[in-house]
Amino acid sequence: MRLIEPFLEFAHGLKTVLFTILEKPVTVQYPEEKRQVSSRFRGRHELKRYENGLEKCIGCALCAAACPADAIFVEASANTDEKRYSPGERYASTYEINMLRCIYCGFCEDACPTEAVILGDTYELSYTNRRDSIYTKEMLIDSVPVGGLPTPMATEKGMYDRSVPEMKDPQD
Ligand code: SF4
Ligand code: SF4
Repeated sequence: MRLIEPFLEFAHGLKTVLFTILEKPVTVQYPEEKRQVSSRFRGRHELKRYENGLEKCIGCALCAAACPADAIFVEASANTDEKRYSPGERYASTYEINMLRCIYCGFCEDACPTEAVILGDTYELSYTNRRDSIYTKEMLIDSVPVGGLPTPMATEKGMYDRSVPEMKDPQD
């Protein structure tokens, strides 16, 4: 029995090697090929716009208050109908996230009353100094959608008095 044991072990090892050789490789040829992330993945933040181009962020700083890592800095300024960035009284004139502090918990996304900030699927974050880890509003905001206008835009007087637009479906 003792003599045959090494041969059995060897055959077992050989079988494992053969099966592994026949398996499809799991290696992804990054960066040419990118791995599909799960729908629950939380990557780099995105600041969203409405269809007409207005920014969803109203500069309320609830995301900053909810952030356990103190990673968000928001400074608000006043909108006018001649120079409007977002619905309501105020918009975020400065919006910064320190990606070195962020732990991707998603609390900012949950706290936002206008669904302006979301954690998207971008995982390519790299910087070589601490200053570059601070992502600014210009880096985070979505581009203007087709048919929309860039901000600031001139809007009809009194048309965007509400900061939080009526939701079609409160479950959204
Ligand atoms: S994901 Fe979490 S840690 Fe990162 S900015 Fe949002 S609240 Fe802060
Ligand atoms: S992202 Fe949302 S919570 Fe944060 S300042 Fe803008 S509107 Fe307020």
